[in-house]
Amino acid sequence: MAIDSLGLPDIDKMDRLNNRLLAAMPRSATTLLKPFIRQLMLPPGFVCLDAGEPIEQIYFPVSGLISQVVSTSEGEVVETAMVGREGAVGLQSAFGQRLSFTRAMVLVGGTFYAIPAEQLRLALSEEAKALVYRYVETELAEALQLAVCNAVHAGPARLARWLLQSAHRTGSELLLLTQEQISEMLGVRRTTITLLSQELQKRGAIKYSRGKITITDRQALQAAACECYGVIAGLYRLPIIGAETDSSAAAAS
Ligand SMILES: [Zn+2]
Repeated sequence: MAIDSLGLPDIDKMDRLNNRLLAAMPRSATTLLKPFIRQLMLPPGFVCLDAGEPIEQIYFPVSGLISQVVSTSEGEVVETAMVGREGAVGLQSAFGQRLSFTRAMVLVGGTFYAIPAEQLRLALSEEAKALVYRYVETELAEALQLAVCNAVHAGPARLARWLLQSAHRTGSELLLLTQEQISEMLGVRRTTITLLSQELQKRGAIKYSRGKITITDRQALQAAACECYGVIAGLYRLPIIGAETDSSAAAAS
């Protein structure tokens, strides 16, 4: 269940919102949006959007992670995209009423902003719309890269790439994730994830204990990851999205 979070920073007093996409928007747009932004604490498993349903709210992660998953008719669930503080889910509705292609579910709990889709449509100037359009294009480019990744890159390299992306997009080297969740996200058996994570632990790249993964050596993890991590990080550093000034963004380069 979502909790409207009392005690979080007062948005009206914030000069810059804690989501990179919102922070990169023209001030005129964020001024119009601020009265409609709800700050929420959302737990893992919370469904933000469901496949085939109208998009009423757009979710912008601040500290958590949203996974966009597709289920097969046999009940298998696989992640198609993950979204953290660099972006949002449901943004296609910035251009008009839309249905969600995927189920968007909280994977790592934390703080999120929710904005009614209709208010976002009203607030976006042409300049802000161009930013949103560019972000949606970047997501498409990422999806194409991941299609290649899933087809040709080996398990340990994909797991390392996925862990680096998760850390970058939550801004934390500590990830509260079970092996079961990771196996669903990568579409790999849980026993395989156990073996793969043992291998990364042997290299000193990560430490895993009871639903907690800590990146202990970022360089070792980057060495184990496929090229897709660097390629995708580069896509999101394109100038118009590039309001990245914090240390983790720099570390991704
Ligand atoms: Zn790859």
